[in-house]
Amino acid sequence: MSARTTRLNHLVHLQCPRCYSAPMFLHHPYNLAGIGKMPKHCPHCQADFEPEPGFYFGALFVSYALAAPFCLLWFVVLNFGFGISFEPALFMVAITQLLLTPYLFHLSRAVWLYFHLKSNAAARKG
Ligand SMILES: [Zn+2]
Repeated sequence: MSARTTRLNHLVHLQCPRCYSAPMFLHHPYNLAGIGKMPKHCPHCQADFEPEPGFYFGALFVSYALAAPFCLLWFVVLNFGFGISFEPALFMVAITQLLLTPYLFHLSRAVWLYFHLKSNAAARKG
């Protein structure tokens, strides 16, 4: 597995972008009471998970960039691929998006942090 594939795998599993050993979030995305709660630092490598106040504002744009193409593609698959008519397909896209929102919220924050923190081989060993 290439380094890029490994990094993508850890991103999808919401693990620390530096050491890949610790989770970025305190709770599972579908534990709605704890959604978005993150430790200040990685418990394994001490990577700063909030470098500055308002750091995750940029994750809003990542969330949009992930959700919009997904919704469009899913609609096309449902409407043209499975032949589901417009309104039911739109409804199914909305339901799917609603169900994916907690994970997408965490994933967009993870993508934003992965943009800003490089992996560190020394941190992974420790
Ligand atoms: Zn770490």
